[in-house]
Amino acid sequence: MNLDRFKNSPFKDFCKFNVQLSRYSYYKIGGPGVVAVPRNLDEMKSIFSEIKKNKIPFYILGKGSNVLISDSGFDGIVIVTSEFYSLIEVKPPFIEVGASVTVRSLLREASKNGWENFECLAGVPGNVGGAIAMNAGTHLGEVSNLLDSVFVMQSCGEINKIKISSKSFSYRKNHFLKSGEIIVSGIFYLKEGHSKEVKIKIDETLKRRKQTQPIEYLSCGSVFKNPKSIKKKSWEIIDELGMRGERVGNAQFSEKHSNFIVNLGNATANDVYTLIEKAKKKAQEKFNISLEPEVQFLGKFTLSDNQ
Ligand SMILES: Cc1cc2nc3c(=O)[nH]c(=O)nc-3n(C[C@H](O)[C@H](O)[C@H](O)COP(=O)(O)OP(=O)(O)OC[C@H]3O[C@@H](n4cnc5c(N)ncnc54)[C@H](O)[C@@H]3O)c2cc1C
Repeated sequence: MNLDRFKNSPFKDFCKFNVQLSRYSYYKIGGPGVVAVPRNLDEMKSIFSEIKKNKIPFYILGKGSNVLISDSGFDGIVIVTSEFYSLIEVKPPFIEVGASVTVRSLLREASKNGWENFECLAGVPGNVGGAIAMNAGTHLGEVSNLLDSVFVMQSCGEINKIKISSKSFSYRKNHFLKSGEIIVSGIFYLKEGHSKEVKIKIDETLKRRKQTQPIEYLSCGSVFKNPKSIKKKSWEIIDELGMRGERVGNAQFSEKHSNFIVNLGNATANDVYTLIEKAKKKAQEKFNISLEPEVQFLGKFTLSDNQ
């Protein structure tokens, strides 16, 4: 991988060369790469336009809590969105929340100020940009129910407002971002309630999560989307395949929640990938079901030798 070719680029000042991408992934998995961390909108615009002009492959990363990064890294630039737009601004009847704001800090503010409805995101470890991109949510609801509109940076660096409609999202997916566009912020409905009640709901959701999910381990959350074709949840399918607790190297279908693949310590991307592929193959053969990964993949993967 030739990463040196970026060293004389006009955006080198906010790039980090030869870093381990595992530093930017919740899984703590991922090989070498070049990372750009723009610190404001202007830096984001300039890096974005240079990358496009020079046709450099790039990937947009939030907190990395839903991305499996290859052991061999990524031959391009990873644009980390955690610093470029961190505003939270109340503009009744809406609140604008920047893509770089963590879901955790949004919930802290919601709890302090009594903003209702965000509790459906309690425990989602990403940024608001990632939560919008993935239409993140829980049994209490999802991002698509909370949004009026989204500001998006287009390939030319221009920022446009997109009004959310019933067609803008589906389960864990958005339909409005074109390839390579960046979510800058979301305009959420403001529903003012009581701080104490909001805090109770958030705490209850976090407690439920602690009881049912292996949050003591590194993971990417749910590995597979729940299938639409049948009533079964993905964890039930994994159970029926007899794969709860199955390991490849140090990656394991969690004993606590079988739709989570946890990193027991130094698992490789290929270990996780191999478990995913095994489950997909078995589900197809045994139940004729196509399990669709919810986790996103960055880079190249092969089946692991640790099987
Ligand atoms: C322990 C754990 C629990 C989880 N629980 C849940 C849950 O309950 N519900 C749920 O829905 N998810 C859950 N997840 C998955 C994950 O946290 C969510 O999908 C989250 O919204 C991803 O946000 P992120 O900032 O980490 O995005 P990343 O993982 O960095 O990126 C995810 C995708 O969004 C894109 N993206 C990120 N930011 C932007 C941006 N600004 N503009 C354009 N595209 C962008 C990336 O390119 C990528 O395709 C869980 C994950 C873990 C590890």
